[in-house]
Amino acid sequence: MSRKPATRLYVEEDLAAGGVVGLSPDHAHFLRSVLRLEPGRTVALFNGRDGEWLARIDGIGKGWASLSLEGQTRLQAAGPDVWLYFAPIKRARLDFLVQKATELGAARIQPVVTQRTIVERVKADRLRANAMEAAEQSERLDLPEIGEPGKLDRALDEHPQDRPLLVCAEAGDAVSMADAARSLSADRGCTILIGPEGGFTPDELRFLADAPAVRFVGLGPRILRAETAALSALALWQALAGDGAQRPPHRDWM
Ligand code: SAH
Repeated sequence: MSRKPATRLYVEEDLAAGGVVGLSPDHAHFLRSVLRLEPGRTVALFNGRDGEWLARIDGIGKGWASLSLEGQTRLQAAGPDVWLYFAPIKRARLDFLVQKATELGAARIQPVVTQRTIVERVKADRLRANAMEAAEQSERLDLPEIGEPGKLDRALDEHPQDRPLLVCAEAGDAVSMADAARSLSADRGCTILIGPEGGFTPDELRFLADAPAVRFVGLGPRILRAETAALSALALWQALAGDGAQRPPHRDWM
């Protein structure tokens, strides 16, 4: 099997045999000026719908590139159905959290404003750019859906009532995340909710306790930073109820 191209790009266009794809100025700049790729070189393209395709650069210039699709290298496959709802944290750590949650397979990432959330302005477009880059690098076949920031009560109103909602609570009684993940049948998705640096308020914990399909989960005896809590909860769920046992595609290991 021919070596897979190292570079993967997410595109909006449909990907089908014989197709020709024009890249965005940013992607064209990346290939031409950063990677210094010339016509004839190949990259992998994916769009979240049509799997992954090998594409050859026909022409490339300042702000543009045209590629022809040579063949499909991977079939589209749905990723694990795990959503991450989290209270926004400061910018650099927020970028880190979105990238890592994307690498860990979150299907949906939803900023939730709680009473002690200190960050008001969260630019969803910036989060989407972080998620796209992480999806390209981690060989995902799709992007996580990034929601517009919303208040906790509205986020819960709009949350599917029968979808398990695992609230990571650093206080009060809670089952371990591992036990909660094991108890969820693999075909049912779930949502993980992480609070802000200041934690959930007692009112919020009471509100959450009354919300449908909520379970409080613990992540051990230490108080984790929000981004640490998010990533450890996602990793645990993936290992016990998600795709943690699968191997990366296209790696001839020996
Ligand atoms: N200010 C709070 C901690 C908030 S940590 C305090 O000092 O008690 C930020 C978020 O990470 C919490 O709201 C919770 O969702 C999650 N978290 C951190 N440590 C956790 C733990 N040991 N168990 C469960 N959730 C945890």
